[in-house]
Amino acid sequence: MPHQPPRRLTLGVDPFVTHVLVSSDPPRFHSVQHDSLVGQLTRVSTLTTNTSGEVFHASYGSKPAGRLDALALLHSIDSESGAMVRAMGLPVSPTAPLKERLRALREALHARGVVDEPTVRSWWARARVYSQLDGPAYSPNVLCPTRGCFERGTIHIRLSERVAVCDACTSVWTDDSSPSFEELASWASWSSEHLVSGHTCSECAVTKELVATTRAERNH
Ligand SMILES: [Zn+2]
Ligand SMILES: [Zn+2]
Repeated sequence: MPHQPPRRLTLGVDPFVTHVLVSSDPPRFHSVQHDSLVGQLTRVSTLTTNTSGEVFHASYGSKPAGRLDALALLHSIDSESGAMVRAMGLPVSPTAPLKERLRALREALHARGVVDEPTVRSWWARARVYSQLDGPAYSPNVLCPTRGCFERGTIHIRLSERVAVCDACTSVWTDDSSPSFEELASWASWSSEHLVSGHTCSECAVTKELVATTRAERNH
């Protein structure tokens, strides 16, 4: 795969490098240097203030399409990291500037030997999708396969990064997730064939039933 997220737990506060395969025989990689994910998100969103009073500056290249997503993600990283800092009893203020808080969180997680944390994994994946490294993410017109969600058109995919997220339920798919990015891709191609109006067959009947039940329950 062309890009590999860092193996060590990252909290998006440091610059990082990805390796892009530029020729396959012999394999040759080109290294790309990136700003920290928090830095990229901050650039994408326009001038605003986060809940801890830290000012994010408007900057070049912000594209309206992803601006609100980036901003919403910064806000959820802000509140979720504050909650984690509190829950873990770390010696940093839950309202300290975001990067400072994330660094403290990273040190604490490393010290405890944590290499995977679902909340942090979700920040990473969503940041990769919303930071608009290569323009807007691809959004297929398919249902989200997460039970209880089943929203249409809410999935955003970065094919080059093999990362996908759902805006509605914040599900995340990567090579390491379960279900994985590959399984999401299979679902997307299956559902674009089966879960469309006017189509009937026995293969998808159960899934359609489940989707209908979920929607009915949500509307109550
Ligand atoms: Zn969803
Ligand atoms: Zn079908």
